[in-house]
Amino acid sequence: MERSELLSWLNSTLEPARFADYCPNGLQVEGANQITKIVTGVTASQALIAKAVQAKAQAILVHHGWFWRGEDPTVRGTRRQRLANVLTHDLNLIAYHLPLDAHPQYGNNVQLAKVLGLIAHLDEKGQPVTGGAKDLVWFGSPNEPLSLGQFVARTAQALGREPVVIGDPNAPCRRVAWCTGGAQGMFEAAIDAGVDLYITGEISEPQAHLARESGVAFMSAGHHATERYGVKALGQAIAERFDLEVSFFDIDNPA
Ligand SMILES: [Zn+2]
Repeated sequence: MERSELLSWLNSTLEPARFADYCPNGLQVEGANQITKIVTGVTASQALIAKAVQAKAQAILVHHGWFWRGEDPTVRGTRRQRLANVLTHDLNLIAYHLPLDAHPQYGNNVQLAKVLGLIAHLDEKGQPVTGGAKDLVWFGSPNEPLSLGQFVARTAQALGREPVVIGDPNAPCRRVAWCTGGAQGMFEAAIDAGVDLYITGEISEPQAHLARESGVAFMSAGHHATERYGVKALGQAIAERFDLEVSFFDIDNPA
């Protein structure tokens, strides 16, 4: 299919204009006009580019693209290498950051909830209840009564990695807030909302103290691990809708 047709579906589905983001959303690097194969992954790293080259794809679709605000924009070192590979192989680089966190069907938050068995709280219009900066934090409850310790075990099993948790394993885990990726800075918004547990991908030093002092548990379940599911779901939707081959590659990342 034509690149423009794919982009127009992606942009009308993900509505990037609604977000004040830290990077350009949509087409970041222009490649071939005709697309038959897409490789998806969390981050447009050299390892993912190599997978796309190997698969003879014409497009890479990711959550973490390039050209982040505040980054050194000069083209050298690893940045030059990545760009050279994408240009040499006529690859389109397509990235959606915040729009792919927040989307009610394909977003990282809704997809992580599915993986962890969390039921999102909905407002009277049937939309997810959200809060925190840019309304990126979701609220909900586990699909059965669990203690924090039981929920942690469930998470470790589902994500294939042991989360970092500050909290009493015997305390009940009824109201939960979550935001995938590096959203440790939104912990206080979750504390203010009165939840039992806040889940995100990363932890910094202050959150351990905030958790102990507030009594609200904090779980760092992995930036990569919590953001694998949105782009994967989006890729599946593309494959179902269009005559395209879409392959998701999970490039392991301990962070
Ligand atoms: Zn992220």
